[in-house]
Amino acid sequence: MNAVIYARYSSDSQREESIEGQLRECREYAERNNMTIVGTYIDRALSAKTADRPEFQHMIKDSAKELFEIVLVWKLDRFSRDRYDSAHYKHILKKNGVKVISAKEHISEGPDGIILEAMLEGYAEFYSAELSEKIHRGQKENALKGKNNGGGVPLGYLLDKKAQKLVIDPTTAPLVVEVFEKYADGKSVRSIVEDFNARGLKTKRGQPFNINSFSSLLKNRKYIGEYRYQDVVIEGGVPAIVPEDLFNRVQERMEKNRHAPAMAKAKEDYLLTTKLFCGKCERMMVGESGTSHTGAMHYYYKCSGAKRLKDCDKKAVRKDWIERVVVRLTMQRVMDEEKINRLIDAILVMQEQEDTTTPALRSQLAEIESSIGNILKAIEQGIFTPSTKQRLDELEAR
Ligand SMILES: [Zn+2]
Repeated sequence: MNAVIYARYSSDSQREESIEGQLRECREYAERNNMTIVGTYIDRALSAKTADRPEFQHMIKDSAKELFEIVLVWKLDRFSRDRYDSAHYKHILKKNGVKVISAKEHISEGPDGIILEAMLEGYAEFYSAELSEKIHRGQKENALKGKNNGGGVPLGYLLDKKAQKLVIDPTTAPLVVEVFEKYADGKSVRSIVEDFNARGLKTKRGQPFNINSFSSLLKNRKYIGEYRYQDVVIEGGVPAIVPEDLFNRVQERMEKNRHAPAMAKAKEDYLLTTKLFCGKCERMMVGESGTSHTGAMHYYYKCSGAKRLKDCDKKAVRKDWIERVVVRLTMQRVMDEEKINRLIDAILVMQEQEDTTTPALRSQLAEIESSIGNILKAIEQGIFTPSTKQRLDELEAR
């Protein structure tokens, strides 16, 4: 267990243990109880008011970093003399998984301490719940009035700060209509992005446009005047920029194209599928593609743990890089005659095992050959009728 020592010396009492004495006793206690001291915080000659104790505050702050589980004090009054304060800071420490232990006193969590702590905890919860309730209520009221609830101002609008409402921006609103019209006319998002960037147009933040910014723009119902905040929907809560039928045509085309990127994805051949494993968690690495801010496609292999469960921090690796590495290393290993011959043998065996059509055809062929043989024998023996002739023709045709 990792522990830190908190020591405090105030000159207000004759019987105070010196800082050095406090540290010594704490260290001895740590040794007896298998604790590793990873830090010390010392406030010298300062009042007991916690606000005035910089190292104490420092320790409380550090407790969130998960570097230690125990704060060791010589006596509990070093920690705090104020019961409220003590419970307050212990509560913070407890939330961070840290316990206060005294080297000199046996700690009994008295009933009053427990009740106080529980009350403080309850109060803190009540306070934050009430606060979020208030915020939620306020935002809902804003929504009902069609007021902006923070967040970005979409292209085509300006924020009237005084009224807290979105108003049409005469400079950029035509661009929004243009994007909708072009897409509805069958242009690809990429070509619209390229055209806009070629014309030197910029986003609200002064950046070049990208595919993602237009994809979400084309779905934004604010452009048909719909204001939405959670369950509040107000038609006409925002000034509309795009005619509704144009908006609907765009939605239809987007719905149709929804599967197109998946097809493009599948076209890319991931050579190492089922053969590449994460070095960190040993799960399979799977192919993935993404579009960069310039609109170019990039291909990766990503740990399936990192992708789905997000419990692995393995970074995605570039597809072409890892494939080239694997191919090069494989070539180095197999490039001699003996190994290649062994490989050919192994492949032939695998083909025999995997190929179910060849054996089936082979047995059919054998059957036909024996039938033909039988008929020929029959002919030799002079048994020849129109039906045997017909059967022979049939068999030879196969
Ligand atoms: Zn992994």
